[in-house]
Amino acid sequence: NIGAERPVIRQLDEAAVNRIAAGEVIERPASAVKELVENALDAGATRIEIAQADGGKTLIHVSDDGCGIAPDDLALALARHATSKIDGSDLLDIHSFGFRGEALPSLGAVGRLTITARADGHDAAEIAVTGGQVSAAKPAARGRGTTVTLRDLFYATPARLKFLRTERAEAQAISDTVKRLAMAAPQVGFVLRDVSGGGEGRVTFRAEAESGDLFEALEGRLRRILGAGFADNAIRIVAEREGLRLSGLAALPTYSRGAAVAQHLFVNGRPVRDRMLIGALRAGYRDVLARDRHPAAALFIDCDPRLVDVNVHPAKAEVRFREPGVARGLVVSGLRHALAEAGHRASSTVAG
Ligand code: ADP
Ligand code: MG
Repeated sequence: NIGAERPVIRQLDEAAVNRIAAGEVIERPASAVKELVENALDAGATRIEIAQADGGKTLIHVSDDGCGIAPDDLALALARHATSKIDGSDLLDIHSFGFRGEALPSLGAVGRLTITARADGHDAAEIAVTGGQVSAAKPAARGRGTTVTLRDLFYATPARLKFLRTERAEAQAISDTVKRLAMAAPQVGFVLRDVSGGGEGRVTFRAEAESGDLFEALEGRLRRILGAGFADNAIRIVAEREGLRLSGLAALPTYSRGAAVAQHLFVNGRPVRDRMLIGALRAGYRDVLARDRHPAAALFIDCDPRLVDVNVHPAKAEVRFREPGVARGLVVSGLRHALAEAGHRASSTVAG
């Protein structure tokens, strides 16, 4: 490089920074839906309505009845690294889905974003971002809560747009995302609509808020999402070990499938895809299930947020337990114990 011109170092402007960050956080329409529904859950919503058109490519709409946003905070919500969820003093003690303050600015950088919100004690207001330009907040009308509308996702990044799959596949990914989040929040009502043709559209998923104690609510919600076949053939899992609590439903060995099945794992309410935990699930069934069979299960691990690092990657569903061995042991022994008990009950019923 001798003789070559010295490269210039320059500070990127905010719009460019947001577009780059968006590349990590917002891979496809379903990732936008995930961020928006998580925001609604963080806001304490009891009912979340989601709509998508054309697989989310032309429209994503998420409306909640949560705490809302005050008019003066709307612009801040769109600023980078601005969040109401942590104060930055303890990154290990995170109790919300969000904490990076990246989703809304990223979405504003890659689509046409409008936020309408009303918080208790404030008037409703609306703000819009197009091409990274934030408008001034103006008065609006709505009840308590927040509605985010995202149009023309990736219109400013045609390369990303080209990598999207068919509208049907993107719509499926959105539906899967909503269902996964709904599994971990049974007390919240969800409606997902396909409004591709305009108008009211068509409801593609609905789950009313479940009542009863937490386990009853969870069973109701899992029945709704994973089906009666699963719920009728599943056993309750409850176990605890060194500050980690395990709960959920796991299929009886007789209900296993040869092909890929529903294996849903959650850590502190977050859907995770974690090799170690999937391995633990398998190991829990090892004595009762042939190698080529796959157990269906929805398992929830809850613990002090300090015992698990969810800060691994902004969009990926990875987690890192401080003591992976304890988490693994909890899942393996929790399953084995419950399966053995169910086996005893089954054989004593046959005998008697
Ligand atoms: P994060 O969720 O990491 O804080 P976001 O960019 O997703 O970052 O949101 C920024 C802020 O905007 C949030 O911290 C919250 O204060 C506010 N906000 C976003 N969505 C909602 C919502 N649905 N209801 C209430 N407040 C919201
Ligand atoms: Mg967020």
